[in-house]
Amino acid sequence: MEFINEQEINKLIEQKIDDPKLQREIIEKSKDAKGLSLSDCATLLNINDKEILNELYETAKVVKEKIYGNRLVMFAPLYLTNLCVNNCMYCAFRKDNKDLTRKTLSVNEIVDETKYLVSQGHKRVLLVAGEHPKKSNMEFVGESVKAIYDVNLGGNNIRRININTAPQSVENFKTMKSFGIGTYQCFQETYHYETYKYMHPEGPKSDYEYRLYAMDRAIDAGIDDVGIGVLFGLTDYKFETLAMLQHAFYLDEKFGIGPHTISVPRLEPAFNAPAAEKPPFAVNDEDFKKLVAVLRLAVPYTGIILSTRERAELRRELFEVGISQISAGSRTSPGAYKESQDTMDEHHMEQFQLGDHRSLEEVVNDCTSLGYLPSFCTACYRSDRTGDRFMELAKTGNIGKLCVPNALATFKEYVNDFANDETKTNAVKFIEKEISKESEAAQRKINKMIERVDDGERDVFF
Ligand code: SAM
Ligand code: SF4
Repeated sequence: MEFINEQEINKLIEQKIDDPKLQREIIEKSKDAKGLSLSDCATLLNINDKEILNELYETAKVVKEKIYGNRLVMFAPLYLTNLCVNNCMYCAFRKDNKDLTRKTLSVNEIVDETKYLVSQGHKRVLLVAGEHPKKSNMEFVGESVKAIYDVNLGGNNIRRININTAPQSVENFKTMKSFGIGTYQCFQETYHYETYKYMHPEGPKSDYEYRLYAMDRAIDAGIDDVGIGVLFGLTDYKFETLAMLQHAFYLDEKFGIGPHTISVPRLEPAFNAPAAEKPPFAVNDEDFKKLVAVLRLAVPYTGIILSTRERAELRRELFEVGISQISAGSRTSPGAYKESQDTMDEHHMEQFQLGDHRSLEEVVNDCTSLGYLPSFCTACYRSDRTGDRFMELAKTGNIGKLCVPNALATFKEYVNDFANDETKTNAVKFIEKEISKESEAAQRKINKMIERVDDGERDVFF
């Protein structure tokens, strides 16, 4: 655990540096979008002054837009199984939850779930599963990935599958890579060793170190887009934020690629999960917003993912301070997309409760009304822009040149295929406005791509 230095983090927290002049200097420095040091981040996490907090938020927005523009990438999770051999104190899938109705999807059911998601307009899926040697092994993950990629409804299909499953050996990660996956995600949940041990009393997940080094093994196996995260609410958010940054800096130093994404799940109520009923270190909305803004300034090149755990109003505020990917229209139990709410007892099957229950279309409408461009782009990994090639483009601020046309073409595809008349009218105006912001050469290129989409071609990108 050489790179998580609890002593260094505790020292930074104990110093409690809350110096407005220094905070303003750090905010100013962060505007060049080159990232911040750990001690800079600790100082920003101590901001209490409302005016300086607003300066932090405004700068996080500027930095996000410098690298990612106004795009918000859309995805949905797809739960394969809620069987699990671990006993995480915060999760409804924990093995001791005898009242949970357990289910593992068959290949046919996975196809049905995929058809539902495709019919809503989704192009990206995050595969999620409990940990089970028989039910969620590599063979099953491989079959599932193939089944999902094979679904094609008139040119509409899932084009990128990211994976959030238990950490694997290098051999298994090599197998996983061969399935053609996008990002491998695994959240440390808490970087605080004692808390980790308490929260994960049983099963393979109780091994802190094995989980901590999951990304090293994934990268060694050739998966070069990896996503890290913390489950906020288990211990002090300042500790977790700084420790997660130590992890990000370590990956960047060792492999020359930082994490492709950072996820910021916050503990939600979950059925028969003692730690979720009363989060030991609940993070309030203001602190949550502050930590997201600090992450944006600390690692400007990293995608920050926000799920539907959060309520719509707060999600809107968080888009402002640096979120670049969001889930929409999500369910957290296996089979929930296909089954209607009336026939399925979702409460007894889901992993945790959601805060945002809106459909993908409602979220899309909301985003455009706020000035954000919903993106369904999946071009990068299919064009081999992963790992250091992606990072190079992101760190130099050049990724936008590719992303803007791809985002607009994929959004137009979504609008043509899935939007109702009202959404369509608003979206077409929005797209025209977005195109007009670009250079003449870029406008020509984008208009050509959009013409191809309007002529019925699907999956237009470069
Ligand atoms: N079982 C694998 C694992 O734990 O790594 C795969 C992913 S697990 C199904 C997905 C994530 O859900 C966990 O990593 C955890 O951060 C999050 N989670 C679990 N219980 C939660 C809760 N009560 N509220 C919010 N997120 C939760
Ligand atoms: Fe299992 Fe993951 Fe839930 Fe833990 S968080 S009980 S490992 S599904």
